[in-house]
Amino acid sequence: MPNQFECSECGFMVRSENDDELIEFVQQHADDAHQMQVAPDDVRAGWESVEMGASN
Ligand SMILES: [Zn+2]
Repeated sequence: MPNQFECSECGFMVRSENDDELIEFVQQHADDAHQMQVAPDDVRAGWESVEMGASN
């Protein structure tokens, strides 16, 4: 089941089935968009599982 992370700063949403990839995406976004450094644990604490195929 993929995990989804929503940026608390701007609402940007990242979704991935690969935990490491998701963390990398979030870190990249935070750095690019907000010049923020995000620890992997912070990403893990903030993401939520989403149903596969449940499009919004
Ligand atoms: Zn953002």
